[in-house]
Amino acid sequence: MQFNKFILGFLIVICHVGIISSQIQHIEPLNWWVGMKNPNLQLLINGNGISKLTPKINYPGVVIKKITKGDSENYIFLDLTIAKTTKAGKFKIDFFEKSKKVFAQDYELLNRKLESKNFKGFNSKDAIYLITPDRFSNGDPTNDVVSGMREQKVDRKNEGGRHGGDIRGIINHLDYISDMGFTAIWPTPVLENDMNDYSYHGYAITNHYKVDPRMGLMSDYKELSEKAKTKGIKLIYDGVINHTGSYYWWMNDLPFKDWINFPDSIQITSHRRTVNQDLYASKIDKEKMTKGWFVSSMPDMNGENPFLANYLIQNTIWWIESLQLGGIRQDTYCYSDKDFSKKWSCSVMDEYPNFSIVGEEWSYNPLITSYWQRDKVNRDSYKSCLTTTMDFPLQLALVTALKEKEGTSVEKGFTRIYESIANDFVYAHPNDIMIFGDNHDMDRIYTQLNKDEKLTKIAIAFILTTRGIPQIYYGTEILADNTPYLNNHGFIRSDFSGGWDNDTINAFTGKGLSADQLSMQKYVKFLLNYRKTNNVLTNGKLLHFYPIDDVYVYFRYLENKMVMVALNRNESSKTLDMSRFAEIIKQSKIAKDIFDNKEYLLSNGLTINGKSATIFEIK
Ligand code: CA
Repeated sequence: MQFNKFILGFLIVICHVGIISSQIQHIEPLNWWVGMKNPNLQLLINGNGISKLTPKINYPGVVIKKITKGDSENYIFLDLTIAKTTKAGKFKIDFFEKSKKVFAQDYELLNRKLESKNFKGFNSKDAIYLITPDRFSNGDPTNDVVSGMREQKVDRKNEGGRHGGDIRGIINHLDYISDMGFTAIWPTPVLENDMNDYSYHGYAITNHYKVDPRMGLMSDYKELSEKAKTKGIKLIYDGVINHTGSYYWWMNDLPFKDWINFPDSIQITSHRRTVNQDLYASKIDKEKMTKGWFVSSMPDMNGENPFLANYLIQNTIWWIESLQLGGIRQDTYCYSDKDFSKKWSCSVMDEYPNFSIVGEEWSYNPLITSYWQRDKVNRDSYKSCLTTTMDFPLQLALVTALKEKEGTSVEKGFTRIYESIANDFVYAHPNDIMIFGDNHDMDRIYTQLNKDEKLTKIAIAFILTTRGIPQIYYGTEILADNTPYLNNHGFIRSDFSGGWDNDTINAFTGKGLSADQLSMQKYVKFLLNYRKTNNVLTNGKLLHFYPIDDVYVYFRYLENKMVMVALNRNESSKTLDMSRFAEIIKQSKIAKDIFDNKEYLLSNGLTINGKSATIFEIK
């Protein structure tokens, strides 16, 4: 008995010491701002035994509304309100055990930058350059290997390994990106991915508030945003809220039991994404889809837990405000609980009404992709706040159309593109849809088109002249190719020539590129710059005519300007009888080829070269 009492007393002392030495391991968001539209802030505070203490704040305008303990005693969630009149500054959060102050934690409210209140996202005036940072350029070889991180090696010969590219590499080549004519960059995620392998791709985030040190520092990320902005380039942040990496710092001590889905026995998602819209989907199918893990190394976040939902929403706003972002690309948008993803997108857009978010929904069915765009009237009254989705249906139509001849079937060839565009009536905002020939998850467009340079040019011309917001994957401009490693992500995300010291080929200078590569680079550059300076291609209306004889003709037009695009899939040239286009051409007489400035009389009919895209200004 005496002995037990002794033990008990000893344990009390131990516990007491534990509390006294309690320190904060994590307080997130790392900081916040005064003058936000939403006056509420919810802090996640993680520290040894922290829930046994009572926090107090004495700072004008900041009030603790509610304190919630986690299921784990090492977490509390602090609901604060920040009054409109609150001044920026540092304050202490004092932690008490009964009436005794145990320690204090600093927290800071910053002033927002002037432009913050009117953030403008990307739109159809922009052309987006998608970059896999690890594979674009190694601007800082000293950060290739960082001690203490799980994946240590840099090996450019390993397609699944790290190659050393980083944020500095993108900063170094902003002039190239700007000269090419791009007005936005979308680097895939650069946040910490402290995983054993495949950490280069960035989608297994292990700390939502930390730049991966192999990518650079927070200051580099800020510098990228600032320098890009001075060159007229918006920075798009690639966000991931559906899942994290399995080495996230909280994985061994979750704040709540239901912080992640299937915490005890992993179940993998069914990828049956149609359950989100399906009138007849079973409960088990819905659960398996949204709660299943993306892969076994990526735990599925439970957005139905309101504290996790707040954590992720605030994290997104923190990045927008910290980096002064020009938009967000949201990964695996349709894999989260859809009430949560709605809350997430609408909270962000409510704080920044002119912002842009493109969500990933890899579906070839426009009924599915259009469901997520804001203002879409859905049968189930569901309203997401995404400004745009990605046009996977058009991507498939484009590639399929170019690979096959129309022949005797009017269902084939360019009719696929024509009919895909004809589906735009299901979208609330068709001109806001992101369009592309390829991205980091699919074979290179040049590869998809069987390494046919002419067809690749037609694809690029189409993407840069039809409606929507074009996105081009880095390397497409130099005919990047992943043959014969089809569907292999590591090869799809190949190193950009010239991004590493001592590369024998340098796409930034043109040194060592083949004639075809140079020709393609010049072509993409010309079209991007033409598009940038001719708003008829970015904001003009679209009128198209059904394809005949493997030729697809469409017009972009404004009141005082008109551009005609003719895509010819035939090897031989075709001469068009212009009378078919009388309703749009009206009194115009002249067509000027934008590539060589040669002028033609419309009355003679226009000749379209074989296997090419011809673009005319109609006057
Ligand atoms: Ca590096």
